[in-house]
Amino acid sequence: MKTKKKLAIVTGGGSGIGFAIAEAFVQSDIHTIIVGRDQEKLRAACDRLGSNCNSISCDLTQLDKIPSVVSGIIAEYGHIDILVNNAGINMKKAFIEVTDQDFQGILQTNVTAVFSFSREVVKHQLSKGIKGVVINISSMASQYGIPKVIAYTASKAAIEGMTRAMATELSPHGIRINCIAPGFIATDMSARALDADPERKSKAIGRTPMGYLGQPSDIGAAALFLASDTAKYITGVILPVDGGNAVGF
Ligand code: NAP
Repeated sequence: MKTKKKLAIVTGGGSGIGFAIAEAFVQSDIHTIIVGRDQEKLRAACDRLGSNCNSISCDLTQLDKIPSVVSGIIAEYGHIDILVNNAGINMKKAFIEVTDQDFQGILQTNVTAVFSFSREVVKHQLSKGIKGVVINISSMASQYGIPKVIAYTASKAAIEGMTRAMATELSPHGIRINCIAPGFIATDMSARALDADPERKSKAIGRTPMGYLGQPSDIGAAALFLASDTAKYITGVILPVDGGNAVGF
């Protein structure tokens, strides 16, 4: 099936923020491929998202699988216009208890896989002259210091640096690279980090001028904007979608 529609890939699109991004895309008639490890979750997400959505199961830490995932999508759909590198994992642990393996594990998912996936997609876009869009997802952890998330913080700071480096190298070819820095958004990930730690939760909300957690759909709307031609002169930005958290007192 070659598609004439725009085609997007959303990693981690089976749940949380990724699901909301995929939902915003399919509702705008962008054919969307969601990628994750959990086939059941992907199937349930596709059922909810309808015929404009398909899924591919892949553990992104297996870097050697990424080229064939990308070439398989190109073979089936003909082109890839938009990539959202949303899949990510967090780990809350005291600094001195984080092992080298823990640290590398977070970086493998949150940084190295993002690099590999982006390289394969951009290679295709450059060879076909596609004016593509890549959207990365960072975090408030790269805007200010948060204790007990050392590897996650390192990974999200790397994502912001990579966004700027990619934007300078690829924007001359018409490929726009941007990043969304979500504040505290109500998902399973934030529930795991905040619900058992009421002090952290009230701190997160207390420094959010809007006074409440964001919804995944808030990130979906921002991603749809950055992916659209309305944002055709926007590249290399880190866009906080955070209820003011990054500037909160
Ligand atoms: P989530 O619900 O836990 O979603 C994470 C997604 O990533 C899952 O769908 C998961 O799918 C996928 N994933 C994780 N490891 C993977 C791997 N090795 N291969 C393939 N897929 C993988 O969390 P979320 O809150 O929506 O987070 C989404 C992104 O937003 C992350 O990058 C996170 O760092 C960022 N973020 C979230 C918040 C927040 O407050 N929620 C704030 C700032 C930034 P499977 O389980 O199927 O593998």
